[in-house]
Amino acid sequence: MLVFHILTLFPEFFSGPMDVSILKRAREKGLVRIELLNIRDFSKDKHRKVDDYPYGGGAGMVMKPEPIFEAVEYASRTVDAEKRKIILLSPQGSVFNQDMARELAEQEHIILICGHYEGVDERVKTIITDEISLGDFVLTGGEIPALAIVDATSRLVPGVLGSNESLKEESFSSGLLEYPHYTRPEVYRGLRVPEVLLSGNHREIERFRRKEALRRTLEKRPDLFKKLELTEEDKSLLKEMGFGCQD
Ligand code: SAM
Repeated sequence: MLVFHILTLFPEFFSGPMDVSILKRAREKGLVRIELLNIRDFSKDKHRKVDDYPYGGGAGMVMKPEPIFEAVEYASRTVDAEKRKIILLSPQGSVFNQDMARELAEQEHIILICGHYEGVDERVKTIITDEISLGDFVLTGGEIPALAIVDATSRLVPGVLGSNESLKEESFSSGLLEYPHYTRPEVYRGLRVPEVLLSGNHREIERFRRKEALRRTLEKRPDLFKKLELTEEDKSLLKEMGFGCQD
């Protein structure tokens, strides 16, 4: 089982997303456990204060180190795990991606620290293993990134998704964006499903899908495309689409 501890000032933020769909099923099946810890409960201050003015002056408040250290220690004590990651959510961290989700899915315990205000006291960085960002933008708090990490990671835990097939082919798993999907009806508002998908010819369907995956990766994510190791067949598919030689 993979255990998550989410350290937050707003545990109520998470009610809802954790109780629907795949995350709900993963929890019910006992494959994933998600515990919410309110950082405020670890404050020793009589007013349960968790933030304070920044040394050196400047705008905004900073989250104090003590309640976060205490909450991380409490979470670590309550879960017996050899493979543990302690993650600080921060716009200054490494940008989250599928490879990171895969690595996290192999852990036994993940502690996620959600910041607020101007962020956390710098000394918190001495107790973390990773600093992760959701992207190059600034959110009001770490809750949305924490939820994104819990979701992307949980679905990679063996047994959570019904079919491992869908994992093999989905975007990023092979370095490619996934091919397009269609379902019924065959024609909608004059828009037809590509003929090859109705043909029943599995070899041709596979070629079509590979071709479309290559096309959309090249067009939408040239950065990913550059990293691909193209097979001879890929090169000939690209040539058929008029993309010429892509070595
Ligand atoms: N003053 C900080 C800075 O400029 O780097 C931004 C603080 S932000 C308003 C408050 C908290 O939201 C952060 O401590 C972090 O936990 C979370 N946060 C904001 N944007 C994020 C992002 N892109 N990825 C991960 N966490 C983020």
